[in-house]
Amino acid sequence: MARYTGPVCRLCRRERMKLFLKGAKCDTMKCQIERHPYPPGIHGRGRIRESEYLFQLREKQKARRIYGVLEKQFRNLYAEAARDKGITGENLLRMLEQRLDNVVFRANFAASRNQARQFVRHGHVTVNDKRVTIPSYKLRKGDVVGLSTKAQAMIVVRHNLDTLDRTVPMWLEANNADHKVTVRDLPLRDQIDVPVREQLIVELYSK
Ligand code: SF4
Repeated sequence: MARYTGPVCRLCRRERMKLFLKGAKCDTMKCQIERHPYPPGIHGRGRIRESEYLFQLREKQKARRIYGVLEKQFRNLYAEAARDKGITGENLLRMLEQRLDNVVFRANFAASRNQARQFVRHGHVTVNDKRVTIPSYKLRKGDVVGLSTKAQAMIVVRHNLDTLDRTVPMWLEANNADHKVTVRDLPLRDQIDVPVREQLIVELYSK
C-alpha cells in the first residue's frame, strides 16, 4: 500500500505550521518548524506570489498530509463526499476522521497517525473483535476498536497510554482499562479540531 516515505518535517515546513506528524518530537525544540520556520528548498525564503489557487492547493495538501492520504485516495474520498447528502467539505473531513488509523491515534493508542497506521498494518488493531489491517478502513457508528493482546503488552503502547494527554473527542468513548474505543456517533464539524478550511478544498476540486 502506497504511502509517503520522504522527510516528514518538510511537510510541516511547506505548510508553515506544525502538523504534528512525529509524535513526541513535535512538542520539543527539535521540531523543525521551531528551527527553520520557512518552507524547504533554496527558494524557501524567497517571495511567494499569492493567489486564490495557491491558498486552495495548500489547504488541500495540508489536509492530505495531516491524515497521511495520497492524492488519488484523497480525490476518491472527495468524490464520495460530494455524492453524499450534506455539505461536501464537512463530509470529506468526517470521512477522514472515520479512518481506522485516525481513531487509533485519537484514542491515544498511538503518538502519531503514522504510528497508528503502522499498528494497523502490523495487525495490532481489531474492529468488533476482528483483526483489521487496512488503515483507511471506514468505521461506522457503534464500531468498537481495540488492541490485540500482544499490542496491549507492547512498551510503546503502554508508554503512549501513560503519557499522551490529548482529549479523546466527544464522538468517541474510550475505555482505557479494556484498551477499547467505541464510535459513539459520527463526528460533527465542530468536533474535528484540524486547522483546515475545507471550503477551499471544495473550491479547488470544483474547478
Ligand atoms: Fe512537524 Fe512534528 Fe516535524 Fe515539528 S517535529 S516539523 S510538528 S513533524
